[in-house]
Amino acid sequence: MQLCRTVAQVRALRPRFERLGFVPTMGSLHDGHLGLIRRAKATCGAVAVSVFVNPIQFAPGEDLERYPRDLERDLELAQGAGADFVFAPEPSELYPAGFSSRVDVGLTHGAENAARPGHFSGVATVVAKLFNIVQPTVAVFGQKDAEQCAVIRRLAADLDLPVKIDIAPTAREPDGLAMSSRNSYLSPVERAAAAAVSRALGAAQARFHSGERDPDVLRIAVAAVLGAEPLAQTQYVAFADPDSLAPLSTPARRMLLSLAVRFGRTRLIDNVLLDAGGI
Ligand code: AMP
Repeated sequence: MQLCRTVAQVRALRPRFERLGFVPTMGSLHDGHLGLIRRAKATCGAVAVSVFVNPIQFAPGEDLERYPRDLERDLELAQGAGADFVFAPEPSELYPAGFSSRVDVGLTHGAENAARPGHFSGVATVVAKLFNIVQPTVAVFGQKDAEQCAVIRRLAADLDLPVKIDIAPTAREPDGLAMSSRNSYLSPVERAAAAAVSRALGAAQARFHSGERDPDVLRIAVAAVLGAEPLAQTQYVAFADPDSLAPLSTPARRMLLSLAVRFGRTRLIDNVLLDAGGI
């Protein structure tokens, strides 16, 4: 497996691969990331992974400085999952002096966009750059970040980017907590309490599957679980159209239910797609 630190190194390597899968990450790899890498490898036969903590998607006061970084460990894990190369640039490689462009996808209705203004423009900008550098056949993203998935799908469709966007299911710990690099911030007590997030999603999902379609009723089921966990500080419980992210306040057969919940200083997000399908 090769390590590329510059755009020029990636461009020199790219012709070696006909079909290339791509998994963009911020590093601190966990089993969720490794599942994405294996999936991309299985689809394309070769896979590139980027490891880049993208400064322009963090607002002042967020966790840019304390975000966990361990490139040596990430390289070993990426190689073990089948990565053919890792692109780990310095911020100055992607944002040299004079850099001033921004990709703005819109989709401003989303709850996460409202909670983190400017975040998704930072994400879309770096992903557009990474796609142009890596030129992947397929790029794999995780459903864990559902709003990000909607933004990237729109970005690729609207700008005619020649890449297929593939969304992989959320990988979870045995107690249901969605795997996340930020879980390492949690104290043992917070870690135990954080399982309430997926339990709350599960409670709403169970109600949905037994026929409940009203977001206001489902919201009560979510609030009951989160309200019973004293350490959980709920930031939002949102029901939205999974593609446009427009909020839903009336019964619907297909809804993205997403949550942002704080445990101490740590902010966790999770979601479930409620889809009645042919039922
Ligand atoms: P991150 O390093 O957190 O920016 O995540 C990089 C990619 O991994 C994104 O596409 C995430 O959605 C995905 N990802 C993160 N956590 C999980 C998870 N628990 N299950 C599946 N994909 C994940």
